[in-house]
Amino acid sequence: MSALLTIADAHVAYGKVEAVRSVSLEVAANEIVTIIGANGAGKTTLLNAIMGVLPLKGRIGFLGADLTQLEIEDRVGLGLSLVPEHRELFWSMSVEDNLLLGAFRGTSAGSASAFERVYTLFPRLKERRKQLAGTLSGGEQQMLAMGRALMGAPKLLMLDEPSLGLAPIIVADIFRTVSELRSAGVSVLLVEQNAQAALKIADRAYVMELGEFVLQGSAAEIERHEGVAASYLGFQHAGESGI
Ligand code: ATP
Repeated sequence: MSALLTIADAHVAYGKVEAVRSVSLEVAANEIVTIIGANGAGKTTLLNAIMGVLPLKGRIGFLGADLTQLEIEDRVGLGLSLVPEHRELFWSMSVEDNLLLGAFRGTSAGSASAFERVYTLFPRLKERRKQLAGTLSGGEQQMLAMGRALMGAPKLLMLDEPSLGLAPIIVADIFRTVSELRSAGVSVLLVEQNAQAALKIADRAYVMELGEFVLQGSAAEIERHEGVAASYLGFQHAGESGI
């Protein structure tokens, strides 16, 4: 397995409160890795720290570079991209202009081929390209947030709760596209509360509780794990995690 992203013994704190504790994780090329866990487990904090929005203590390597030494722009330049939990679109700008903003680096990023790649993945965005982002449906907004992150042709796309607030049929659509990304050579680090949907498309999974990874394995193993089924997949009665 050739590692794209390697994190070792990572800690992230808000003041004196550690929200991420001693986390180690790997994402390989052409892999979908999911981090599942309850509200407040520390998933968003970890993604933000990988992107450089929050300081992280520990080691993070990406394609051989030490990320802790790099600013956010340089992490983007290396091929790292984050789709934040609340999508953070420019509501009064068109779909096309939102996409263009995702391509702020370099000249080739805003090229016709970058638009073509995104519009091939999300034909709906092409149909709506002149429409204001604020008038899109929830699913279309998620597509736009992902499309914007893909404009710079990242090697690793980090997705924070892409299913948030979306109807199951739309979630299925979004997750199908995430699988297509892997086929197109983009690795994905997917944070989700919708564990069932995430485990269906992921290769490997980590389970996060109170800032720590308590379990990891292939997505199939994690899906079969009794504690995971009880706590995160809605099987048996929820209560004791058993992990
Ligand atoms: P969610 O799905 O609700 O986003 P999560 O697993 O992503 O959950 P985080 O948002 O990373 O969890 O939160 C982890 C912990 O850090 C929680 O206890 C949360 O209250 C705390 N936390 C998050 N953001 C801040 C902040 N800006 N300042 C202080 N504490 C924070």
